[in-house]
Amino acid sequence: MKVILLGPQGSGKSTQAKMLADHFNVPYIEMGQLLRDKQNDNDEDAKVIKKAMETGSLVSDNKITIRTLNQRLSTPDCTNGFVLDGYPRNDEQIKSLPEGIDRAIYINIPDEEAVRRLSQRGRADDRPEIIQKRLDVYHQETEPLLSHFRDMGILVEIDGKPSVEEVSSQVIKTIDGTSKN
Ligand code: AMP
Repeated sequence: MKVILLGPQGSGKSTQAKMLADHFNVPYIEMGQLLRDKQNDNDEDAKVIKKAMETGSLVSDNKITIRTLNQRLSTPDCTNGFVLDGYPRNDEQIKSLPEGIDRAIYINIPDEEAVRRLSQRGRADDRPEIIQKRLDVYHQETEPLLSHFRDMGILVEIDGKPSVEEVSSQVIKTIDGTSKN
């Protein structure tokens, strides 16, 4: 089972992605975390990643992101599938989409709710001005990618406002195939 989780920061998509991965016993792959880990390498790629993290922009060189993801996906635990969170985020990345994606689950919430939730989280890039920047980047570069998954016939949209448990039961249902909308 290969699933992609899409949605703005603060939509709860990472929480949902983790629960889904646990439920189906496949690895949870978080693009942002893979890149955060790469920052410790202290090489040229690490510098590019650090700059993006500090400004709330996407990592400017897609090759770094794609290479980092492909390394992770080539490990044996991904053979039976995965839940991918935070990729793709722009046009170039969608061209390097892993093959055989079964579902793209889009968890949506309004910006005000996203800002409220992220402000309470307190990660290094969760400062107010950076939060807004990341949401702007999301609307400009990532949201337009939804139509690609809609055209593929694998997009499912879920309202992210209800409780974690309610959203989770919706998410799992879409994969079980009992509710495809
Ligand atoms: P996230 O935890 O998903 O909000 O990602 C944190 C940061 O990691 C983002 O603000 C970007 O700088 C970087 N990042 C995560 N995923 C990607 C991606 N697919 N392409 C480029 N940069 C990314």
